[in-house]
Amino acid sequence: MTVALVGPGTCTACGACLPTCPTRALLPAPGGPSVVAAACTGCLACVEVCPVDALAVIG
Ligand code: SF4
Ligand code: SF4
Repeated sequence: MTVALVGPGTCTACGACLPTCPTRALLPAPGGPSVVAAACTGCLACVEVCPVDALAVIG
């Protein structure tokens, strides 16, 4: 499975990544986005927009 992961120690919960996801796989949560793994296509849009490199795609 290809899925985006949020680095919990790095994410500032700025929310910049949320609107970039074409499949709405990123949901707002207090400590940073929650990733709906089944909806993530690994497109890298969120990874590219994150200002602190808190997102990565694996798989
Ligand atoms: S990699 Fe693409 S599909 Fe997956 S959470 Fe990020 S923006 Fe959404
Ligand atoms: S853009 Fe980066 S720092 Fe901002 S909420 Fe998303 S993962 Fe966290």
